[in-house]
Amino acid sequence: LFITLEGGDGVGKSTQAQLLTEWLESRDLEVVRTREPGGTALGAEIRRLLLHGGYEIGAVDPRAEALLYAADRAQHIATVVRPALARGAVVVQDRYIDSSLAYQGAGRVLSVDDVRRVSEWAVDSLWPHLTVLLDLDAAKAVARRESRDGAQGETADRLESEAHEFHTAVRDGFLALAEAEPDRFLVVDAEQSAEKIQEKIRARVSPLLD
Ligand code: C5P
Repeated sequence: LFITLEGGDGVGKSTQAQLLTEWLESRDLEVVRTREPGGTALGAEIRRLLLHGGYEIGAVDPRAEALLYAADRAQHIATVVRPALARGAVVVQDRYIDSSLAYQGAGRVLSVDDVRRVSEWAVDSLWPHLTVLLDLDAAKAVARRESRDGAQGETADRLESEAHEFHTAVRDGFLALAEAEPDRFLVVDAEQSAEKIQEKIRARVSPLLD
């Protein structure tokens, strides 16, 4: 079973991934909790290049950026996710293709279809059984991120210079993806308490475990 968590920065993906992992493990399932970018050794280097490479905003060509995310993903899916799924583990993953569609596609200049083609090729068309979209107003997500990361947060430098419009476009991008594939997506209002959100996620995951 392959489950991904998606949404903008600061919506609570890692908290939910952690709670979901604990619950699945309490049911004696093997869980592989992982993330993109950075879920492998190669991916950690790609993540560092993308987020801390010291490149000015706009200095990395959008296609080059999309290909770096796709390279991270190819390595991760081939060496971590597919082997885990093959031995029957549940994979709980923070961000996947939908993040690229929303950030590199809807949020930036590339077409969502182009980003989808590159991403699908990178992973040989492996899609999750379930994608949980944590949906939150862009301004509220910024406030949460700041209280979490402080001024020195990992992605703070880049994020602070990114405009509110960008995060709104990303959010709208995610919502459009969810609307187009209602069977794959569970959209949860991320303004609710962590416990309430987790309850909704578990209710959706439960029948998938039978
Ligand atoms: O969620 P996480 O902290 O791993 O994401 C790091 C950053 O990478 C995000 O803030 C987002 O701006 C960026 N990102 C992206 N495209 C992706 C995945 C992440 O722009 N496909």
